[in-house]
Amino acid sequence: MPRYQCIQFGQCVKADASEVIEIPAGAESKCPQCGQKLEEVNGGGKFPVPPKIVLIAVPAVLVLGGVIWFFLSGEPKPSGPQAVESALTDVWPWLKTSPK
Ligand SMILES: [Zn+2]
Repeated sequence: MPRYQCIQFGQCVKADASEVIEIPAGAESKCPQCGQKLEEVNGGGKFPVPPKIVLIAVPAVLVLGGVIWFFLSGEPKPSGPQAVESALTDVWPWLKTSPK
């Protein structure tokens, strides 16, 4: 059922009391006290994002970020001494068999 509030503040006791008035769908949204048009109430002051989703999403993002960081930092990097060594042995193959 749609919920309404009277906005005739200072003129209507229902507006001053912030009273929520339920009007059946299809019926005219008029204040039963003062007969003025009512303002529809949307959600009644709820958060834009339900807190339950935030409680699930925030740890999930943190865990996912941790996993990505673990794999990125754990992977052997292609650049470095090994890349230099393979580049050298491409030019001088005898370096491969030489003892270190
Ligand atoms: Zn009213």
